[in-house]
Amino acid sequence: MKVVIIGNNVSGTFTAQNIRALKDDIEIDIFTQESYPYYTRVNLPELISEKVTIDDLVVFKEDWYKNRQLNLHLNKKVNKIDSNAKIIQIEGDSMPIDYDKLILALGSVPNIPPIKNAVEMKDQKKGVFTLRSIDDALEIRDYLKKSAIEKAIIIGGGLLGLELANQIKDCNLNTTVVEFFPRLLPRQLDEECGAMLKEEIENRGIKVVLDAATEEILGNGRVTGIKLKGGEQYDTDVVLIQAGISPTIRLAKEANIQTNRGIIVNDFLETSEKDIYAVGDCIEYKNQIWGIIPACMEQSKIVAASVLGLKKVDYKGTTPKNTLKIVGLELTSIGIIDPTKEEGGGWEILKKADKKDCCYQKLVLKGSRLKGAILFGENKAISYVYNKMEEDVDREDLRKLLELYIYVCNNCGKEYDEAKMGILFKDLPEDFKCPGCNGPKEKFKKKDNS
Ligand SMILES: Cc1cc2nc3c(=O)[nH]c(=O)nc-3n(C[C@H](O)[C@H](O)[C@H](O)COP(=O)(O)OP(=O)(O)OC[C@H]3O[C@@H](n4cnc5c(N)ncnc54)[C@H](O)[C@@H]3O)c2cc1C
Repeated sequence: MKVVIIGNNVSGTFTAQNIRALKDDIEIDIFTQESYPYYTRVNLPELISEKVTIDDLVVFKEDWYKNRQLNLHLNKKVNKIDSNAKIIQIEGDSMPIDYDKLILALGSVPNIPPIKNAVEMKDQKKGVFTLRSIDDALEIRDYLKKSAIEKAIIIGGGLLGLELANQIKDCNLNTTVVEFFPRLLPRQLDEECGAMLKEEIENRGIKVVLDAATEEILGNGRVTGIKLKGGEQYDTDVVLIQAGISPTIRLAKEANIQTNRGIIVNDFLETSEKDIYAVGDCIEYKNQIWGIIPACMEQSKIVAASVLGLKKVDYKGTTPKNTLKIVGLELTSIGIIDPTKEEGGGWEILKKADKKDCCYQKLVLKGSRLKGAILFGENKAISYVYNKMEEDVDREDLRKLLELYIYVCNNCGKEYDEAKMGILFKDLPEDFKCPGCNGPKEKFKKKDNS
């Protein structure tokens, strides 16, 4: 059997490795349009600030593929799939490549919001960039070096936008993040934690503009500024757009494989065409797309088994897990963080918001099951949360973990439960009065075993 994989980042590479682990006598060919073997995109912003080199980013060198009899073909762009003839065509090559099983690990590309001049100025290299690949990072780095740049604007206050802003700031540029939504990390944080994060980011010397829809990129020869919908203008020498991703679907669509936002797959990661599978950022499963490495890793195991006809496990989706990678800023968001957007009842939130110490911990439960968490400023609870996600948990264990207490009024027995109140007892004003008997704060004592 001959398996052909298109795409050689985390999904393509781990799918190949998983297939090889299950079967050692099949031919596996991997094609990628990029010039590098599998490298991590996670540290691309640090390639711009020159804290890492290309070599640091490459995870598996070419020998790794050779040792596993995986035929890696770099600089090969696939421009056609013929699912009837079971062949693919490489741009510039006359001979097609045949396959028995084809796996699409095509990934995704950065979104460019509908901003006047954005696409044109990016294509004409006038100071507008997106960041997805090593080549993008090198291009940005060279532009910053060669063009006497002082100011940078990052459009997009999501994880990648903030990580990029942090590295751009480290290049000694006056850095501003412009976010469309009224808070940073709109998909990973609630309002309260979003506000705490904004303060921390600003303390690092990065300006944050929220609720700001960029309408136009200004400048003729090169970027000079941006204009917001309200008419406000900001000067800048470079614009970096990090505004989410779109799965790569064109190749599949042209081959009449069913697509929507992504390439549509079933529980076994089969596409609508026989013997063609898809995995990673390019897929859409039950109306959802992921764009994170844990999903690619999980899917790459399932697709490998599926290709070999060993349909033991079906895909059920991956719980979203996101960590902000800025040194000194601990922030992880996992699963459901805003139950008001979910259906059905039985939701409960345990929360510790310690604004003075810039620490915010929120656990979301449905019944007794842990469904999500935001952990900011403290990572003591991380391993517990990772291990117990989607499992039944003991509320008392959670209270201990977050160091949340119940205080009882000695006068009337009224309880002050920190987990429910959102303000720690110590942070209550000194003139706080017991809601039960109007007694003073001193009358409250920490409940035993709470
Ligand atoms: C700056 C940055 C930081 C990130 N940080 C994190 C993080 O901290 N945590 C996390 O979970 N995720 C992170 N991500 C997302 C993560 O990198 C992606 O989820 C992951 O790379 C997806 O892997 P993939 O193999 O599915 O697709 P991709 O990585 O997109 O790889 C697909 C490959 O297929 C190639 N390809 C596409 N079409 C063709 C064709 N026609 N012919 C040949 N080759 C083709 C592409 O060029 C590409 O090399 C980050 C992404 C970026 C850009």
